[in-house]
Amino acid sequence: MMIVMSDGATDRQVDDVIDRLHQAGVEAHLSRGEFKTLIGAIGDEDIISQIPLGAMPGVDSVIPIMRPYKLVSREFKPQGTVVSIGPVELGGEMFVVLGGPCAVESEEQLMASARAAKEMGVHILRGGAFKPRTSPYSFQGLGEDGLKLLAQAREETGLPVVTEVMDARQVELVSGYVDMLQVGARSMQNFFLLKEVGAQQKPVMLKRGPSSTVEELLMAAEYIVRGGNSNVVLCERGIRTFETATRNTLDLSAVPLVKHQSHLPIIVDPSHATGKRELIPALARGALAVGADGVMVEMHPDPKVALCDGPQSLDFGQFREMMADLKAAAPPLGRKL
Ligand code: PEP
Ligand code: MN
Repeated sequence: MMIVMSDGATDRQVDDVIDRLHQAGVEAHLSRGEFKTLIGAIGDEDIISQIPLGAMPGVDSVIPIMRPYKLVSREFKPQGTVVSIGPVELGGEMFVVLGGPCAVESEEQLMASARAAKEMGVHILRGGAFKPRTSPYSFQGLGEDGLKLLAQAREETGLPVVTEVMDARQVELVSGYVDMLQVGARSMQNFFLLKEVGAQQKPVMLKRGPSSTVEELLMAAEYIVRGGNSNVVLCERGIRTFETATRNTLDLSAVPLVKHQSHLPIIVDPSHATGKRELIPALARGALAVGADGVMVEMHPDPKVALCDGPQSLDFGQFREMMADLKAAAPPLGRKL
Protein backbone atom coordinates (compact mmCIF):
# COMPACT_ATOMS: atom_id res chain seq x y z
CA MET A 1 0.00 0.00 0.00
CA MET A 2 1.24 3.49 -0.72
CA ILE A 3 0.33 6.51 1.37
CA VAL A 4 0.51 9.77 -0.55
CA MET A 5 0.99 12.74 1.79
CA SER A 6 -0.67 16.03 0.88
CA ASP A 7 1.51 18.89 -0.34
CA GLY A 8 1.45 20.78 2.95
CA ALA A 9 1.97 17.77 5.21
CA THR A 10 4.30 18.50 8.11
CA ASP A 11 7.24 16.32 9.22
CA ARG A 12 5.25 15.55 12.36
CA GLN A 13 2.34 14.23 10.30
CA VAL A 14 4.71 12.06 8.24
CA ASP A 15 6.27 10.70 11.45
CA ASP A 16 2.81 9.99 12.91
CA VAL A 17 1.88 7.86 9.90
CA ILE A 18 5.17 5.96 10.12
CA ASP A 19 4.70 5.42 13.88
CA ARG A 20 1.15 4.18 13.31
CA LEU A 21 2.42 1.64 10.76
CA HIS A 22 5.22 0.49 13.05
CA GLN A 23 2.76 0.03 15.93
CA ALA A 24 0.81 -2.35 13.71
CA GLY A 25 3.98 -4.28 12.88
CA VAL A 26 4.07 -2.92 9.32
CA GLU A 27 7.26 -1.74 7.59
CA ALA A 28 7.27 1.89 6.50
CA HIS A 29 9.54 3.12 3.70
CA LEU A 30 9.72 6.86 3.18
CA SER A 31 10.27 8.37 -0.26
CA ARG A 32 10.61 12.15 -0.38
CA GLY A 33 10.37 13.36 -3.94
CA GLU A 34 10.63 16.87 -5.32
CA PHE A 35 6.84 17.11 -5.54
CA LYS A 36 5.41 14.36 -3.34
CA THR A 37 6.19 12.57 -0.12
CA LEU A 38 5.20 8.93 -0.25
CA ILE A 39 5.23 6.24 2.42
CA GLY A 40 5.31 2.64 1.31
CA ALA A 41 3.56 0.34 3.79
CA ILE A 42 4.87 -3.19 3.39
CA GLY A 43 3.27 -6.03 5.30
CA ASP A 44 0.07 -8.01 5.66
CA GLU A 45 -2.46 -6.27 3.41
CA ASP A 46 -5.34 -7.25 5.72
CA ILE A 47 -3.67 -5.55 8.68
CA ILE A 48 -2.77 -2.45 6.65
CA SER A 49 -6.28 -2.06 5.29
CA GLN A 50 -7.67 -1.98 8.83
CA ILE A 51 -5.60 1.05 9.81
CA PRO A 52 -7.62 4.23 9.09
CA LEU A 53 -4.66 5.81 7.28
CA GLY A 54 -6.86 7.89 4.95
CA ALA A 55 -8.26 9.76 7.95
CA MET A 56 -4.88 10.71 9.43
CA PRO A 57 -3.90 14.39 9.23
CA GLY A 58 -1.68 15.18 6.26
CA VAL A 59 -2.65 12.09 4.27
CA ASP A 60 -3.90 12.81 0.77
CA SER A 61 -4.69 9.30 -0.41
CA VAL A 62 -3.94 5.64 0.13
CA ILE A 63 -3.46 3.56 -2.99
CA PRO A 64 -2.56 -0.08 -3.45
CA ILE A 65 0.63 -0.92 -5.37
CA MET A 66 -0.61 -3.62 -7.71
CA ARG A 67 2.76 -4.99 -8.78
CA PRO A 68 4.42 -7.79 -6.80
CA TYR A 69 7.48 -5.60 -6.20
CA LYS A 70 6.80 -2.46 -4.19
CA LEU A 71 9.87 -0.49 -3.15
CA VAL A 72 11.54 -0.67 -6.56
CA SER A 73 8.34 0.25 -8.43
CA ARG A 74 7.95 3.54 -10.26
CA GLU A 75 4.67 4.09 -8.41
CA PHE A 76 6.51 4.14 -5.13
CA LYS A 77 9.15 6.59 -6.38
CA PRO A 78 8.18 8.47 -9.53
CA GLN A 79 11.56 10.20 -9.89
CA GLY A 80 14.49 8.04 -11.02
CA THR A 81 17.09 6.90 -8.51
CA VAL A 82 20.64 8.14 -8.93
CA VAL A 83 23.26 5.83 -7.41
CA SER A 84 26.64 7.30 -6.42
CA ILE A 85 29.63 5.05 -6.97
CA GLY A 86 32.55 7.05 -5.61
CA PRO A 87 32.40 10.29 -7.60
CA VAL A 88 30.30 8.76 -10.40
CA GLU A 89 26.55 9.32 -10.54
CA LEU A 90 24.69 6.51 -12.28
CA GLY A 91 21.06 7.16 -13.24
CA GLY A 92 21.43 10.87 -13.98
CA GLU A 93 22.42 12.74 -17.12
CA MET A 94 25.72 10.91 -17.49
CA PHE A 95 25.90 7.83 -19.71
CA VAL A 96 28.27 5.81 -17.55
CA VAL A 97 30.82 3.49 -19.13
CA LEU A 98 32.18 0.60 -17.08
CA GLY A 99 35.14 -1.14 -18.65
CA GLY A 100 37.89 -3.55 -17.80
CA PRO A 101 38.92 -7.15 -18.13
CA CYS A 102 36.60 -10.07 -17.51
CA ALA A 103 39.00 -11.35 -14.87
CA VAL A 104 41.89 -9.82 -12.98
CA GLU A 105 44.79 -11.95 -14.22
CA SER A 106 47.95 -10.19 -13.07
CA GLU A 107 49.22 -6.84 -11.87
CA GLU A 108 50.56 -6.05 -15.32
CA GLN A 109 47.29 -6.92 -17.09
CA LEU A 110 45.06 -5.04 -14.65
CA MET A 111 47.21 -1.93 -14.35
CA ALA A 112 47.56 -1.66 -18.14
CA SER A 113 43.76 -1.93 -18.43
CA ALA A 114 43.17 0.58 -15.63
CA ARG A 115 45.52 3.16 -17.15
CA ALA A 116 43.99 2.72 -20.60
CA ALA A 117 40.48 2.99 -19.12
CA LYS A 118 41.38 6.20 -17.31
CA GLU A 119 42.96 7.72 -20.39
CA MET A 120 39.92 6.88 -22.55
CA GLY A 121 37.42 8.43 -20.14
CA VAL A 122 35.94 5.21 -18.74
CA HIS A 123 34.09 6.04 -15.50
CA ILE A 124 34.29 2.77 -13.55
CA LEU A 125 36.83 -0.06 -13.75
CA ARG A 126 35.55 -3.63 -13.71
CA GLY A 127 37.45 -6.88 -13.14
CA GLY A 128 36.48 -10.24 -11.68
CA ALA A 129 38.44 -11.67 -8.76
CA PHE A 130 36.00 -14.51 -8.07
CA LYS A 131 34.80 -15.91 -11.39
CA PRO A 132 31.60 -17.93 -11.84
CA ARG A 133 32.86 -20.40 -14.46
CA THR A 134 30.74 -23.09 -16.06
CA SER A 135 33.63 -25.55 -15.81
CA PRO A 136 35.47 -26.19 -12.54
CA TYR A 137 38.62 -26.63 -14.68
CA SER A 138 38.51 -23.07 -16.02
CA PHE A 139 40.40 -20.18 -14.39
CA GLN A 140 38.49 -19.33 -11.21
CA GLY A 141 40.03 -15.92 -10.56
CA LEU A 142 42.78 -14.67 -8.23
CA GLY A 143 40.48 -14.32 -5.22
CA GLU A 144 41.62 -11.86 -2.56
CA ASP A 145 44.86 -11.14 -4.46
CA GLY A 146 42.64 -9.93 -7.31
CA LEU A 147 40.75 -7.66 -4.91
CA LYS A 148 44.05 -6.18 -3.74
CA LEU A 149 45.02 -5.44 -7.33
CA LEU A 150 41.67 -3.73 -7.92
CA ALA A 151 42.26 -1.55 -4.85
CA GLN A 152 45.73 -0.73 -6.19
CA ALA A 153 44.26 0.23 -9.58
CA ARG A 154 41.77 2.55 -7.89
CA GLU A 155 44.55 4.07 -5.82
CA GLU A 156 46.60 4.84 -8.91
CA THR A 157 43.89 5.96 -11.32
CA GLY A 158 41.18 7.28 -9.00
CA LEU A 159 38.61 5.16 -10.86
CA PRO A 160 35.96 3.48 -8.72
CA VAL A 161 36.01 -0.31 -9.07
CA VAL A 162 33.35 -3.01 -9.30
CA THR A 163 33.75 -6.74 -8.86
CA GLU A 164 31.53 -9.76 -8.45
CA VAL A 165 30.69 -11.30 -5.09
CA MET A 166 29.45 -14.87 -5.45
CA ASP A 167 28.74 -15.85 -1.88
CA ALA A 168 27.03 -14.26 1.11
CA ARG A 169 30.03 -15.19 3.28
CA GLN A 170 32.32 -12.98 1.18
CA VAL A 171 30.30 -9.77 1.11
CA GLU A 172 32.28 -8.17 3.93
CA LEU A 173 35.62 -9.17 2.43
CA VAL A 174 34.78 -7.93 -1.07
CA SER A 175 33.13 -4.70 0.06
CA GLY A 176 36.29 -3.87 2.00
CA TYR A 177 38.14 -3.48 -1.31
CA VAL A 178 35.71 -2.16 -3.93
CA ASP A 179 33.19 0.63 -4.58
CA MET A 180 30.36 -1.46 -6.01
CA LEU A 181 29.43 -5.13 -5.57
CA GLN A 182 28.31 -7.10 -8.60
CA VAL A 183 25.75 -9.86 -8.20
CA GLY A 184 26.27 -11.99 -11.28
CA ALA A 185 23.59 -13.37 -13.57
CA ARG A 186 23.91 -16.86 -12.11
CA SER A 187 23.42 -15.49 -8.60
CA MET A 188 20.41 -13.28 -9.32
CA GLN A 189 18.13 -15.51 -7.29
CA ASN A 190 20.61 -16.41 -4.57
CA PHE A 191 18.34 -14.97 -1.92
CA PHE A 192 20.85 -15.24 0.93
CA LEU A 193 23.33 -13.25 -1.10
CA LEU A 194 20.66 -10.66 -1.97
CA LYS A 195 19.80 -10.27 1.71
CA GLU A 196 23.46 -9.91 2.62
CA VAL A 197 24.20 -7.21 0.03
CA GLY A 198 20.96 -5.52 1.12
CA ALA A 199 22.19 -5.38 4.70
CA GLN A 200 25.19 -3.18 3.82
CA GLN A 201 25.43 0.15 2.02
CA LYS A 202 27.88 -0.40 -0.87
CA PRO A 203 26.08 0.04 -4.21
CA VAL A 204 25.06 -3.21 -5.88
CA MET A 205 24.96 -4.03 -9.58
CA LEU A 206 22.38 -6.77 -10.03
CA LYS A 207 22.64 -8.67 -13.33
CA ARG A 208 19.61 -10.28 -14.91
CA GLY A 209 19.63 -14.07 -14.74
CA PRO A 210 20.07 -15.83 -18.10
CA SER A 211 16.57 -17.31 -17.82
CA SER A 212 14.86 -14.66 -15.74
CA THR A 213 11.97 -12.40 -16.60
CA VAL A 214 12.15 -8.68 -15.98
CA GLU A 215 9.65 -9.17 -13.17
CA GLU A 216 11.95 -11.71 -11.50
CA LEU A 217 14.85 -9.27 -11.85
CA LEU A 218 12.80 -6.58 -10.13
CA MET A 219 11.74 -9.00 -7.39
CA ALA A 220 15.42 -9.81 -6.80
CA ALA A 221 16.15 -6.07 -6.56
CA GLU A 222 13.27 -5.76 -4.09
CA TYR A 223 15.14 -8.11 -1.73
CA ILE A 224 18.14 -5.77 -1.68
CA VAL A 225 16.14 -2.57 -1.27
CA ARG A 226 13.90 -4.13 1.37
CA GLY A 227 17.03 -5.08 3.28
CA GLY A 228 17.85 -1.38 3.57
CA ASN A 229 20.16 -0.75 0.61
CA SER A 230 18.52 1.35 -2.08
CA ASN A 231 21.76 1.78 -4.07
CA VAL A 232 20.88 -0.76 -6.74
CA VAL A 233 21.79 -0.65 -10.43
CA LEU A 234 20.22 -3.25 -12.73
CA CYS A 235 22.07 -4.79 -15.66
CA GLU A 236 20.62 -6.41 -18.78
CA ARG A 237 23.22 -8.93 -20.00
CA GLY A 238 21.31 -11.09 -22.45
CA ILE A 239 18.98 -14.01 -21.92
CA ARG A 240 19.01 -17.56 -23.19
CA THR A 241 16.90 -18.12 -26.31
CA PHE A 242 16.86 -20.57 -29.23
CA GLU A 243 19.42 -18.41 -31.06
CA THR A 244 22.89 -19.95 -30.98
CA ALA A 245 24.79 -17.47 -33.16
CA THR A 246 25.32 -15.24 -30.15
CA ARG A 247 26.17 -16.32 -26.60
CA ASN A 248 22.85 -14.94 -25.35
CA THR A 249 20.18 -12.70 -26.86
CA LEU A 250 20.38 -9.06 -25.79
CA ASP A 251 16.92 -8.00 -24.67
CA LEU A 252 17.11 -4.27 -25.31
CA SER A 253 13.37 -3.98 -24.68
CA ALA A 254 14.12 -4.69 -21.01
CA VAL A 255 15.61 -1.19 -20.75
CA PRO A 256 12.51 0.91 -21.52
CA LEU A 257 10.39 -1.71 -19.75
CA VAL A 258 12.41 -1.34 -16.54
CA LYS A 259 12.35 2.45 -16.92
CA HIS A 260 8.57 2.29 -17.13
CA GLN A 261 8.10 -0.02 -14.17
CA SER A 262 10.93 0.90 -11.81
CA HIS A 263 12.88 3.93 -10.61
CA LEU A 264 16.17 2.01 -10.52
CA PRO A 265 18.91 2.78 -13.05
CA ILE A 266 19.72 0.11 -15.64
CA ILE A 267 22.85 -0.50 -17.69
CA VAL A 268 23.53 -2.91 -20.55
CA ASP A 269 26.35 -5.46 -20.86
CA PRO A 270 26.73 -6.23 -24.57
CA SER A 271 29.86 -8.34 -23.92
CA HIS A 272 28.18 -11.23 -22.11
CA ALA A 273 25.03 -10.73 -24.17
CA THR A 274 26.75 -11.54 -27.45
CA GLY A 275 30.10 -13.18 -26.77
CA LYS A 276 31.32 -11.50 -29.97
CA ARG A 277 33.50 -8.41 -29.94
CA GLU A 278 32.44 -7.28 -33.43
CA LEU A 279 28.84 -6.78 -32.26
CA ILE A 280 29.62 -4.75 -29.18
CA PRO A 281 30.02 -1.16 -30.48
CA ALA A 282 26.66 -1.30 -32.30
CA LEU A 283 24.87 -2.67 -29.26
CA ALA A 284 26.49 -0.14 -26.93
CA ARG A 285 25.08 2.56 -29.23
CA GLY A 286 21.74 0.73 -29.12
CA ALA A 287 21.81 0.74 -25.32
CA LEU A 288 22.36 4.50 -25.34
CA ALA A 289 19.54 4.98 -27.85
CA VAL A 290 16.95 3.02 -25.84
CA GLY A 291 17.64 5.00 -22.66
CA ALA A 292 20.08 2.85 -20.69
CA ASP A 293 22.08 4.67 -18.02
CA GLY A 294 25.33 3.12 -19.13
CA VAL A 295 27.16 0.13 -20.55
CA MET A 296 29.63 -2.36 -19.15
CA VAL A 297 32.11 -3.63 -21.73
CA GLU A 298 35.03 -6.04 -21.36
CA MET A 299 38.50 -5.11 -22.58
CA HIS A 300 41.92 -6.76 -22.43
CA PRO A 301 45.45 -5.62 -23.39
CA ASP A 302 45.74 -8.73 -25.58
CA PRO A 303 42.36 -10.50 -25.93
CA LYS A 304 43.81 -13.55 -27.66
CA VAL A 305 45.64 -14.58 -24.49
CA ALA A 306 42.83 -13.64 -22.06
CA LEU A 307 42.15 -16.30 -19.42
CA CYS A 308 38.43 -15.59 -19.63
CA ASP A 309 36.07 -14.26 -22.33
CA GLY A 310 38.76 -13.29 -24.86
CA PRO A 311 36.45 -13.55 -27.91
CA GLN A 312 34.15 -10.86 -26.51
CA SER A 313 36.88 -8.57 -25.18
CA LEU A 314 37.82 -5.41 -27.07
CA ASP A 315 41.46 -4.41 -27.33
CA PHE A 316 42.34 -0.87 -26.28
CA GLY A 317 42.12 0.52 -29.82
CA GLN A 318 38.66 -0.96 -30.33
CA PHE A 319 37.51 0.32 -26.94
CA ARG A 320 38.79 3.81 -27.75
CA GLU A 321 36.83 3.81 -31.01
CA MET A 322 33.68 2.73 -29.20
CA MET A 323 34.13 5.56 -26.69
CA ALA A 324 34.52 8.12 -29.47
CA ASP A 325 31.39 6.79 -31.14
CA LEU A 326 29.38 6.96 -27.89
CA LYS A 327 30.71 10.44 -27.12
CA ALA A 328 29.43 11.67 -30.49
CA ALA A 329 26.08 9.91 -30.14
CA ALA A 330 25.27 10.96 -26.55
CA PRO A 331 24.52 14.73 -26.69
CA PRO A 332 21.63 14.57 -29.23
CA LEU A 333 20.06 11.97 -26.95
CA GLY A 334 20.32 14.29 -23.97
CA ARG A 335 23.17 12.38 -22.32
CA LYS A 336 26.62 13.47 -21.26
CA LEU A 337 29.66 11.30 -21.60
C1 PEP B 1 30.74 -10.72 -15.43
O1 PEP B 1 30.25 -9.63 -15.70
O2 PEP B 1 31.89 -10.85 -14.99
C2 PEP B 1 29.92 -11.96 -15.58
C3 PEP B 1 30.37 -13.13 -15.15
O3 PEP B 1 28.76 -11.75 -16.20
P1 PEP B 1 27.37 -12.55 -16.04
O4 PEP B 1 27.14 -12.73 -14.57
O5 PEP B 1 26.39 -11.61 -16.69
O6 PEP B 1 27.51 -13.83 -16.79
MN1 MN C 1 33.30 -12.09 -18.70
